[in-house]
Amino acid sequence: MAEKQDYYEVLGVSKQASEDEIKKAYRKLAIKYHPDKNPGDKEAEEKFKQCAEAYEVLSNPEKRQRYDQFGFNDPGMGGFGGGQGFNPFDIFNSFFGGGGSGFSSFFGGDDEDGSAPRGSSIRVRVKVSLQDVCNGVEKRLKLKKYVQCAHCNGTGAKDGTAIEQCPTCHGRGRIVKSMRTIFGMAQTEAVCPDCQGTGKKIKTRCSHCNGEGVVMGEETVTVKIPAGVADGMQLNMQGYGNVGRRGGRAGDLYVLIEEEEQKQFIRQDNMLIYSLLLDFPTAALGGDVEIPLVEGTHTIHIAPGTQPNTQIRLQGKGLPTVNRYGRGDLIVNVGIYVPEKLDDDERKTLRELKEHKNFSTTPSLFDKFRQKVRSMFE
Ligand SMILES: [Zn+2]
Ligand SMILES: [Zn+2]
Repeated sequence: MAEKQDYYEVLGVSKQASEDEIKKAYRKLAIKYHPDKNPGDKEAEEKFKQCAEAYEVLSNPEKRQRYDQFGFNDPGMGGFGGGQGFNPFDIFNSFFGGGGSGFSSFFGGDDEDGSAPRGSSIRVRVKVSLQDVCNGVEKRLKLKKYVQCAHCNGTGAKDGTAIEQCPTCHGRGRIVKSMRTIFGMAQTEAVCPDCQGTGKKIKTRCSHCNGEGVVMGEETVTVKIPAGVADGMQLNMQGYGNVGRRGGRAGDLYVLIEEEEQKQFIRQDNMLIYSLLLDFPTAALGGDVEIPLVEGTHTIHIAPGTQPNTQIRLQGKGLPTVNRYGRGDLIVNVGIYVPEKLDDDERKTLRELKEHKNFSTTPSLFDKFRQKVRSMFE
């Protein structure tokens, strides 16, 4: 990975920059580098992401203070930005307002060529099981959304009828408004109210979509969820959102990952922890024990004399990591079961065993135990 660039440098502001200056700097750069304005430009996309990450940290007083203090090596946060669920578009959208396609709404609903309004984005939640996280999964989602009107092919014009240039804006889609301000008259551009920015006027509207070019419909979308995803991550599927009116581009589909609850394992990133409650005789005698994996089972060997809280690491039996090779480990945490109820026979046997020399504790065992406990607190 390339060396990370300082957040202040990314936004081109000084370390003393005010909140307002940071806001302004981000606004300018986010518009400049937005992928919608730079289709296919990887460098612009990377810059867009960097700006969002920098803004996310520097616009939050607490995060900014930590960043100033620790840089990228914040011990308390495990690094800034770019982590789980970091989405530069979310930051962009929350900055510019607009639930889905904030960019379009910011630019007055124009597409790149200023012809048709872009559709809004859709957000869905998808539940995944631990098996899904392990292997990756394809989910078929039935979405209720705006789809192209089949009767007019999305134009909004009744079959065969003409589409004319909008007389109000002469096809530009925008009109210039004069506004009185305290500094005198100012001119601002606004979306043409007659054609909503399309620059076109329909002679006869399509009756099926009332001239909108879109109708509420259903679409089944197949979402490829990669292995290793975690709760709160978001996948962005460009162009799978609502179709824009009168031939406008579709918005995006955001898929938010939700992990199904499961009781078998504790998950820590790509590591799994399994708690094994071992019966006392097996702990003392040793033996083979079968434990569950996310898929199938695995037999582990318990050494004679295994103590409580022993951890057995099974390499590569944990979860994969998104965008990385290899898998995490599975840690078996061993607990030892002390019988809670005893019948007369069992009680008698235990009383006899208690007299045997290997069943009583010794000062040296005490020492070993104390050392172990102490090391847990250090
Ligand atoms: Zn117009
Ligand atoms: Zn139609």
